[in-house]
Amino acid sequence: AEQWRIDKWLAAAGVGSRKDVKKFLRKKAVRVNGATITDPSVKINAWKAAVTVNGEKIDYDPGPVYLMMNKQKGRVSATADDRHRTVLDDIDQSVKKIELFPVGRLDKDTTGLLFLTTDGEWAHRLTTPRLGIEKEYEVLLDTEPPAEELQSLQEGMQLKDGTETKPAKVSEGAQEKNGFRLFITVTEGKYHQVKRMFGAIGHQVNELKRVRMSNVRLDERLGPGEYRSLTAKEFEAIS
Ligand code: URA
Repeated sequence: AEQWRIDKWLAAAGVGSRKDVKKFLRKKAVRVNGATITDPSVKINAWKAAVTVNGEKIDYDPGPVYLMMNKQKGRVSATADDRHRTVLDDIDQSVKKIELFPVGRLDKDTTGLLFLTTDGEWAHRLTTPRLGIEKEYEVLLDTEPPAEELQSLQEGMQLKDGTETKPAKVSEGAQEKNGFRLFITVTEGKYHQVKRMFGAIGHQVNELKRVRMSNVRLDERLGPGEYRSLTAKEFEAIS
């Protein structure tokens, strides 16, 4: 979605209709980064390509980028890191050249829904504690907690260092071969929050996956490390 066909790019830039654009291409009037392009299906980096038509530079910026990624384990939610690979290492080279960054943070071993964008204001809105955007996580615990312990998570609790958490929503859980699975929805993003909440009631989180932010769900068709653009509907739902 971030690599655009040259004919689409030129039409969007206002050079002419798709038909006009094909004519320019056929007449060898179009250059991309210095090379003549005649095939309308050639893909270019929509944000960074230097495009000329009949020698005239075309200035066109397709606007901000909004992606959803299924973060994989082992990636840090940062744009650069000395020791570890980052979520940007899973992004196509050409997209990386635009100034993309992750919206908020997931731990290195956490998987699931992570937005990446070039839009600083949008990212700020999604992460500001003031707005209390819901974040839902699928959790695999070591063992099943008693109901009264889960109740304390739902009422708001104190972490071991004294930090108070806001009330969370906790789903029914299910016993599985390798642990107890449930869903928890929080409205804050404190450091290691979900792990520390279960830690405070004596439980270990063995798997953590974010499945929803506000009213946008992770697209389960995305494999680990895969991403796609937000649809218009998703973008509206969360903006
Ligand atoms: N809570 C955590 O403990 N870790 C995450 O990555 C997200 C929420």
